[in-house]
Amino acid sequence: MSEPDAVVLGSGPNGLAAALTMARAGLRVQVIEGAGEPGGGCRTTELTLPGFAHDVCAAVHPLAAASPFFRSVGLTTHGIRLLTPKVAVAHPLDGGRAGSISGSVAQTASRLGADAGAYRRLMEPLVRDSEAVLKLVLAPLRSWPAELRPAVRFGAEGLLPARLLAARLRTPEGRALLAGLAGHSMRPLSAPLTGAFGLTLMLLAHTTGWPVVEGGSGQLVAAMAAELAELGGSITTGRWIERLDELPAARTVLLDITPRQLLELAGDRLPAGYRRAMRRFRYGPGVCKVDWALDGPVPWTSQTCREAGTVHVGGTIAEVSRSEAEVNAGRHPDRPFCIVAQPGVVDAGRAPAGRQTLWGYCHVPAGSRADMADRIEAQIERFAPGFRDRILARSVRTARDVERYNPDYVGGDITAGAATLRQTIGRPALRWNEYRTPLPGVYLCSASTPPGGGVHGMCGLWAARAALRDLHLHNSGLVSG
Ligand SMILES: Cc1cc2nc3c(=O)[nH]c(=O)nc-3n(C[C@H](O)[C@H](O)[C@H](O)COP(=O)(O)OP(=O)(O)OC[C@H]3O[C@@H](n4cnc5c(N)ncnc54)[C@H](O)[C@@H]3O)c2cc1C
Repeated sequence: MSEPDAVVLGSGPNGLAAALTMARAGLRVQVIEGAGEPGGGCRTTELTLPGFAHDVCAAVHPLAAASPFFRSVGLTTHGIRLLTPKVAVAHPLDGGRAGSISGSVAQTASRLGADAGAYRRLMEPLVRDSEAVLKLVLAPLRSWPAELRPAVRFGAEGLLPARLLAARLRTPEGRALLAGLAGHSMRPLSAPLTGAFGLTLMLLAHTTGWPVVEGGSGQLVAAMAAELAELGGSITTGRWIERLDELPAARTVLLDITPRQLLELAGDRLPAGYRRAMRRFRYGPGVCKVDWALDGPVPWTSQTCREAGTVHVGGTIAEVSRSEAEVNAGRHPDRPFCIVAQPGVVDAGRAPAGRQTLWGYCHVPAGSRADMADRIEAQIERFAPGFRDRILARSVRTARDVERYNPDYVGGDITAGAATLRQTIGRPALRWNEYRTPLPGVYLCSASTPPGGGVHGMCGLWAARAALRDLHLHNSGLVSG
């Protein structure tokens, strides 16, 4: 390619979303990726045995399904199918009981017994205003909400710690469900904003569902890479960048990296105040990830778990809270809260006939070298006796391995920065536009910027819009929003 107009460092979903947004505006774009293939946290590989396709990182895609960026990619045109399990998420308890979310709010409420009314009161207004709420969740906080009432309501409830929000529910099933959803925040459930994680994921379960991608998450990347190629953009893989000045000259540089790497790549070029802000950026705990090849489905005692795409394994709200509190205090829980996905409930093609892949992780202290496979398997076995007998092979990645695989996962933190209150108000730092760095023409576009972790591409989209505005392309009609 002749000299590009824009260079994007890193080809995760946000890097590719930034690249596509720039290319759609008519710019020549080059993406540079250190790993041997594009995709960052959105790749699919045979991690265990031939014929078993495992999602290395992201597997479940309510955020992609809700994302205006991914809607713009025209996934169906590229032959991509999001497959939505009947049960979005289930949460087993001892004795064969389980809470689960599927279908409408009324249908889910009807299975929650004494919590039916409370669940409806919590979710009905959110689902009614889902468009406004999701717009808010997927945008930088500084954008003025289009509709104030739903934003205020969501803000007031979402600010609450999940433990407090769960006090509105009475049944062990209802309370455990909320705890498991809030556990995705990787924060103690007594922390503010953990309620927002629970509510958002519940809302998505009722609106988009929690789909997996037919054939694996890597298909999303393939679709983005194909559109980029059609627009004349290119992706160079296998090239790790250690200093910003190694990048090809370009008018705009978008960085799909986190503050720690920005300091390493550009430290001496950044003003002291911004350097201090980047050093203050906090990462969360890590994960230990396990993938299994199974000779059949997981034998969950509870039928609803057998139909669920995602299963939250960790018992009652008290147990989930304890597990997350221990991790945040730097300890490895004996009975960890585990997030497990079984794409095989909707995507038979992930494994040879009759067999299944299983994906799971638990949170661990940042930088942990601990192999938690035994403890995760013990938790699954607790709710699915006979599970261990179905294991044909497993692949384990400790938090250290996760960071080695992708330097954006500092210490194994899969969300590229803790979801604290401060880092929600300003991510990575308190600035009017968080995507701009003090270096002219250089932008951050990773999950360390708003709206944060997950495969939605919205950090890349918003960063690229800021860059296009600075190039004065916003008057050309090429940039909206
Ligand atoms: C185990 C796990 C499970 C997850 N599950 C889900 C899920 O189910 N659903 C969901 O929505 N999200 C999930 N996530 C989170 C999701 O994967 C990330 O939030 C998302 O990938 C962030 O996208 P990104 O573009 O910001 O960064 P990344 O996807 O992390 O991509 C960054 C890219 O930049 C490259 N890079 C970094 N530094 C350099 C350098 N110096 N030189 C060259 N290249 C560089 C990296 O190699 C990488 O390819 C999961 C993550 C993990 C690890």
